Amino acid sequence: MPNKQCSLVGAPAGAFRNFYRIVEKQIMAHVITDSCIKDGLCLDSCPTGCIHPTQDEPAYETATQLYINQEECIDCGACISTCESNAIFPAEEVPEEKKDAAEKNAAYYANA
Ligand code: SF4
Ligand code: SF4
Repeated sequence: MPNKQCSLVGAPAGAFRNFYRIVEKQIMAHVITDSCIKDGLCLDSCPTGCIHPTQDEPAYETATQLYINQEECIDCGACISTCESNAIFPAEEVPEEKKDAAEKNAAYYANA
């Protein structure tokens, strides 16, 4: 049985899905800024569980804030409304003075 192909250019359909997922990840992701007070209110709102450290993880004690794993974030925005500290933003809307937030969030998972 032949592979399912894209009817437009003949590429495997899965290749296009993966391509668009990569493009979306480069354009959109949510990040947590240093306004986070680590109260954990956002944790239960995240459908993918991509906010860490959680209270039961060892790093929770020493972390100065929580971080979003941008590889797992589906950009649903559900966490934003739960954050009373206004610490979460779509990456493209991070205030100028907190522009290093995306890098800091990524660095947390790079070192994990
Ligand atoms: S709800 Fe906001 S302040 Fe609380 S842990 Fe999440 S990002 Fe930090
Ligand atoms: S935008 Fe959605 S998936 Fe991403 S961290 Fe917030 S709740 Fe989780």
